Amino acid sequence: MAETARLPAVFIGHGTPMNTLADNAWTTAWRRFGASLPAPRAVLVVSAHWYVDETAVTAMPVPPTIHDFYGFPAELFAYRYPVAGDPALAGEVARLLAPVAVRLDDSWGLDHGAWSVLAHMFPGAPVPVIELSIDGRQSADFHYQLGRTLAPLRERGVLLLASGNIVHNLRLMRRTGDAPAFPWAGEFDAAVRERLLQGDHAALLNPFALGESARLSIPTPEHYLPLIYAIGAQLDDDRVEILTDGIDLASVSMLSFVVR
Ligand code: ZN
Repeated sequence: MAETARLPAVFIGHGTPMNTLADNAWTTAWRRFGASLPAPRAVLVVSAHWYVDETAVTAMPVPPTIHDFYGFPAELFAYRYPVAGDPALAGEVARLLAPVAVRLDDSWGLDHGAWSVLAHMFPGAPVPVIELSIDGRQSADFHYQLGRTLAPLRERGVLLLASGNIVHNLRLMRRTGDAPAFPWAGEFDAAVRERLLQGDHAALLNPFALGESARLSIPTPEHYLPLIYAIGAQLDDDRVEILTDGIDLASVSMLSFVVR
């Protein structure tokens, strides 16, 4: 295989599934980022929405578009992201992560954590996509080590796309369009941003030590954990760049960052 430039790892705060159909500051940032890259060979997605009791990787030739939510308009349920999978890359990921057991999956597909972002980052689905699950039984350090182990794929034409939200509290979410951010949401978002820019991974691996605001910002771990994969894939000479930011619906951080 020809020598390729190292691709970044990117963390996207995906927010509401409605962003799939939206044209806003966040989706514009995702679109510009995708257009700025040399064409990847494939994308490996770690999504908050495949949070299970194992590490698995999608290995089907054509991953279906999964509509893993309810209560949204028919237009969103009709949306399809018609992309190819990459079974060979799935096998490569499983070998790379050994001795961690990685199940080659043929029953999942792409959830909205993947396709709501890919719809903008790679419109028309020109780049094959596989997805890696998050094993909910494991520690932050386990996920960090998996991110480190996956980092060499960046030299092999693979874009690592972690999709979650740094602050994600749906119970307290405000649906009115211009609801101001809760102070704790802004506070935690800023604390994480600061540690990202400092490269303080130890602090990011133990977010509850960052302050009381963490408790409301991470009521459940699945939307925070993709960030751990993105920083795990950060190499010594990489920096973190903020791609876009903001708090949507008062309690969902839209902060996205690139590691390169
Ligand atoms: Zn989500």
